[in-house]
Amino acid sequence: MATEPPHHFDADEFREAGRAAVDWLADYLEHLGRRPVTSGLEPGDVRSLLPDRAPEAPEPFADLLADVNALIAPALTHWQHPGFFGYFPANSSPPAVLAELISAGLGVNGMLWSTSPACTELETQVLDWLVDLCGLPGRFRSDGPGGGVIQDSASSASLCALLAARDRSGGAAALSRLVAYTSSQAHSSIEKGVRIAGFGDQALRVVEVGDDFAMDAGALAAVMTADRDAGLVPCFVAATVGTTSSGAVDPVPAIAAVAAEAGAWVHVDAAWAGSAAVCPEFRPLLAGLEAVDSYAFNPHKWLLTNFDCTAFYVADRQPLVEALSVVPEYLRNAASDSGEVIDYRDWQVPLGRRFRSLKLWFVLRSYGAEGLRAHIRHHVEAAERFAERVVAHPNLELATERSLALVCFRHVDGDEATRNLQDALNATGELFLTHTVLSDRHVLRLAVGGTWTTATHVDRVADLLDDLA
Ligand SMILES: *Cc1c(COP(=O)(O)O)cnc(C)c1O
Repeated sequence: MATEPPHHFDADEFREAGRAAVDWLADYLEHLGRRPVTSGLEPGDVRSLLPDRAPEAPEPFADLLADVNALIAPALTHWQHPGFFGYFPANSSPPAVLAELISAGLGVNGMLWSTSPACTELETQVLDWLVDLCGLPGRFRSDGPGGGVIQDSASSASLCALLAARDRSGGAAALSRLVAYTSSQAHSSIEKGVRIAGFGDQALRVVEVGDDFAMDAGALAAVMTADRDAGLVPCFVAATVGTTSSGAVDPVPAIAAVAAEAGAWVHVDAAWAGSAAVCPEFRPLLAGLEAVDSYAFNPHKWLLTNFDCTAFYVADRQPLVEALSVVPEYLRNAASDSGEVIDYRDWQVPLGRRFRSLKLWFVLRSYGAEGLRAHIRHHVEAAERFAERVVAHPNLELATERSLALVCFRHVDGDEATRNLQDALNATGELFLTHTVLSDRHVLRLAVGGTWTTATHVDRVADLLDDLA
């Protein structure tokens, strides 16, 4: 006898289960502030509660949701908690969540224009919208030689920029002589990218930073000159606008001028800070962008669009596509052959791609530019007030100047007192913050940026500091 297909939800079952899932999530978010931000679990605690084997027989959806409630929710670090100030927060918002649901249901793979025209064209359009919305240089728009693409992460964006730069500098034949540059404060993904791109072991120069933790462009010029004198080829410079550790801003105009002389590609990583450019008053942070080759920022950090969503722009898409395009016969089609369409598979490492622009589109339309600006400004103002409270506190000091909504501070009595303060704050369960090291000293980072985080939550941390520091 022939095998029957399994039971799939019929339309009514799907409606009922879907409503239950959205109801669960709405309840979770509504009451999230009452949960402790972190779980306090030990390694293995979660697995010990899960069965050893996948079930043989189908289970009802209600049981799955009950287990999310019983087993998963208590074992989370609640990234959407209003008291989450660790790392950089990762924004999710209801419109983004619902777009993600629709995207999953459509189940589209947008590897080629022809595999779903809306997936490609909506992406091109919303990334052009973001150029205007963030005041980015017009050369990043898709109607010229450049254009934007959504990557899964800033790490992937840096890697793609590196691969394009590598090929522009001569590719595999030149590989042993190519050199990449970044600062000691750059994100670890730059070093990882250099390794993946196959550069030599000694090919990454870590350029010194000044007292403000921003790259010293004079030092960059000096190492680059030494490398050229030694017969090496400066290929790639990664500058950071808003470093992960302290929010430092590299001097992009000076860096671009130095790199231009050597013919090196300049990539600007503004993973976190880039979202602030929706507000005109923060655009000076992006000075010099018109002279760089590529730029990336993460709407999934601070622009209400859940992970994953990195906006990656190139001033000229040709080197990127040349580095990443491989066309097997089974993917050939008339639209691609006509040269009139974008096939985003050529702009990224994997072939397949999710319909990510849908959530960005929902967010941009649901909040409008004014909503996005209010989101950023509210957080920056709250962080500003928090920094003032730190300065006014007799036992606390700023470790560096506040950068947008990131405040780095420490106890005046030294590292042990700072660590104890971090433990005491996190032990309240009301908030979660993480640390960094600046100038060899332990520093606490308050990164304000959660979707549900308001000035009240930030003020509450300052009140706790009055008691605990
Ligand atoms: C967060 C961050 C990254 C890494 O982002 P992913 O999207 O997770 O790869 C890279 N650079 C900077 C400056 C960051 O703050």
